[in-house]
Amino acid sequence: MLSIDLSGKVAIVTGGNRGIGFGISETLAEAGAAVVVVSRHAECQAAAAALGKQYGTRCHGFAADISQPAEIASMMEKVDQAYGRVDIMVHNAGIAVRAPAFEITVEAWDTVLNTNLRGAFFCAQEAAKRMRNQGGGAIINVGSVHAKTAMRLYAHYGASKAGISQLTRVLALEWGELGIRVNCVAPGSVPTDINREVLAIPENRQRNIAKTVLKRLGTPRDIAGAVAFLASDLSAYVTGETLYVDGGWTIS
Ligand code: NDP
Repeated sequence: MLSIDLSGKVAIVTGGNRGIGFGISETLAEAGAAVVVVSRHAECQAAAAALGKQYGTRCHGFAADISQPAEIASMMEKVDQAYGRVDIMVHNAGIAVRAPAFEITVEAWDTVLNTNLRGAFFCAQEAAKRMRNQGGGAIINVGSVHAKTAMRLYAHYGASKAGISQLTRVLALEWGELGIRVNCVAPGSVPTDINREVLAIPENRQRNIAKTVLKRLGTPRDIAGAVAFLASDLSAYVTGETLYVDGGWTIS
């Protein structure tokens, strides 16, 4: 029977403690990977402990603010000490701040870009340094439908997510010969903390459902399935791609 087997692999999931990231952490652990859950808060340790208990894999939670490259570097040193390798790096942590373009401040711009895009780059760079020495690995960035479709109030968020898709292509090009595949999963609308207020308004929720051809919002596990595929050997010949997991939102 064909199945995704990640046993023996070490995966890092930024923002892996809740929302889509927790769905990804859980799916990778269920497939047998040891999962490092990263977030700014100590909750990541509880999430890792729960996963380890449920799936019997060795999971750790390491707190780090991935908008700060120095914190990414020190988190990776903890991974070195705990596991001595990294096979799968999922950059999922992200923030969305809604604001009219005229009102976006330098501080808001930097916060969004440094988390969503700079964080993706330095997580990938630190992981790839290890993967290069191991002979390969898989890097998966979490993008968004906002990379392809323009939505009001999301100038900085949309720019960061479009940047992730292009970053994915360039890194795939540079690192392919090292056996490192770099891909992106771009979710559609998935109810989580990031959009709780927006989706609490029934018209917004209905609008997002109507944009899909499958006529429903997504779930963290919908997104996680695509990440697990891209983390596994089933996708051994796929690199530089952005896979839209959006219920068909962006096909028209
Ligand atoms: P949530 O708000 O539920 O989760 C965000 C996660 O990111 C949390 O675990 C949070 O942990 C972590 N995080 C935020 N900032 C940092 C930081 N500086 N350093 C480390 N961790 C951080 O959002 P979602 O689960 O919905 O989003 C996950 C990803 O999916 C994001 O990249 C988002 O842009 C993307 N996405 C989501 C969509 C949706 O509809 N939900 C649609 C398209 C894309 P903590 O607060 O503890 O640091």
